[in-house]
Amino acid sequence: MTGTAKTFTRRLLRWYDGARRDLPWRADATTGRVPSPYHVLVSEAMLQQTQVATVIPYFHRFIARFPTLADLAAADEQEVLRLWQGLGYYSRARNLLAAARTVVGECGGQLPDTVEGLLALPGVGRYTAGAVASIAFGRRAPILDGNVTRVLCRLDRIESDPREPSTQALLWQRAEEVIPAKRAGDFNSAMMELGATVCTPRAPRCLTCPVRVHCEAAAAGVQDRIPTPRKAKATPLFHRHVYCVRRDDRWLIEQRPAKGRWAGMWQFVTAEATDGLARQIGRKSLVRIGDVSHALTHRRYHFAVFTCDAHTEFASDHSRPRKWVTLDELSNYPLPRPHIKIAGMLASLPKD
Ligand code: SF4
Repeated sequence: MTGTAKTFTRRLLRWYDGARRDLPWRADATTGRVPSPYHVLVSEAMLQQTQVATVIPYFHRFIARFPTLADLAAADEQEVLRLWQGLGYYSRARNLLAAARTVVGECGGQLPDTVEGLLALPGVGRYTAGAVASIAFGRRAPILDGNVTRVLCRLDRIESDPREPSTQALLWQRAEEVIPAKRAGDFNSAMMELGATVCTPRAPRCLTCPVRVHCEAAAAGVQDRIPTPRKAKATPLFHRHVYCVRRDDRWLIEQRPAKGRWAGMWQFVTAEATDGLARQIGRKSLVRIGDVSHALTHRRYHFAVFTCDAHTEFASDHSRPRKWVTLDELSNYPLPRPHIKIAGMLASLPKD
């Protein structure tokens, strides 16, 4: 970065004061109201891997249902997952609940106000601890998310892969060096805001960037190739069969195991495509109604979706809790996104 940290901070904060988006978990720019530490914690959990526009309605619903950390600590996990449904990465919801219970059970109901104290909570990593400590408590704590990483790489013209541990260490060091003692939370928010709205992954708006005079990548005209793109890696594809078993107007759902992907959530009966369940049910009884594809960060799924009637001889993993529910009652259960799509397919089937 060229120029002094002081002038960089002054330019960045001046821009932020005028350009910041009015987000529900942020301090009120007109009244100066300090954001609630609980709101910041919830928003940071939701914002990991997820766009701001997607998070806003989830945040409102979540806070309306659990207005305080104590309300969340007393919540039923199924209800928390239900409110999180569609956001994905459900371990974030479970960790948030565990953190709330730890705060109520072991910290007198008050969120710790230091990075060290926050790091001791379940599921709170260095980024979240820094965000809460700086934004909610004004601590001079660095953060490094995707946006800040991109901005720092470009400002400093760092051309090594930001996912490499040595580059990560360098970026954390830089994040710590540039953060000012005053308005640390606003500074961190401004860095994220700059990355989200100006220094975007593709076609950064350098001509209108408030800190362009400090940017080494823009000076060299290499901003478009920084940070180094991730090497494309083929993600494995997994095939599953989904058996939507019907009895009158009810459908059979099962609960997933307590550990692993989509832990504790509910789904239509699902098996690996190769496990022979279709053979047991009898292929003639099955009606294929469509396919659903679903991509996660490191794997993809293909679901072949079938319906069949309950009188069909049916034997799969009975160790999983099961229920018969109407499509309307499904809204009481947290479902992974592919099964929400499958419920939509069932709703649009012609009535007998
Ligand atoms: Fe990003 Fe361009 Fe601003 Fe540099 S000048 S920080 S590349 S938007």
